[in-house]
Amino acid sequence: MSAAGRAAVTFAGSGDAFGSGGRFQAYIHIRPPRGEAVLLDCGATSLAALKRQGLDPGDIGTVFVSHLHGDHFGGLPFLVLDGQFAKRSRPLRVAGPQGTAQRLTEAMEAMFPGSSTAHRRFAVQIVELQPGRTARVGDIEVDAWEVAHPAAHHHWRCVWTSAEPGSPTPATRPGPMPSSTRPPEPTC
Ligand SMILES: [Zn+2]
Repeated sequence: MSAAGRAAVTFAGSGDAFGSGGRFQAYIHIRPPRGEAVLLDCGATSLAALKRQGLDPGDIGTVFVSHLHGDHFGGLPFLVLDGQFAKRSRPLRVAGPQGTAQRLTEAMEAMFPGSSTAHRRFAVQIVELQPGRTARVGDIEVDAWEVAHPAAHHHWRCVWTSAEPGSPTPATRPGPMPSSTRPPEPTC
């Protein structure tokens, strides 16, 4: 954990989709100096990886999902159900590409029939991002843009609007989004 006033960034998973090297699927946990923690992607192994790192799933306010492949969003049903069984009360926001709401419902029903409509003390709020547009997700402004991948795949730029010294991004907005960002194509 970092010193007070600084964001803590944990690469809690660094593997590929298939557990190569025995590693958890890639995802990143960010705890800003104030406010709720954020996950960047939530693959099928992410809940176990969080607990391995001693990170409380109940602290997570927002999950950004890059794309709707199982190693990037397949952990959401487990995260939602973990919150249900832990009597979570704070909302859980999920921001992802178009189709996120439907795919999450389908995934929950495939794995745990009836779970998508079960009563919970907390809301699961879905924000479907539009490439090239800025959206507000909680206290975060996020720009999403599309990158090459077999599924609609986003990269993001997040700005914590409540930013203070030491926050992950500056309070002033950075320059315009790159018009053509094409990093190496991910393998999954
Ligand atoms: Zn993929």
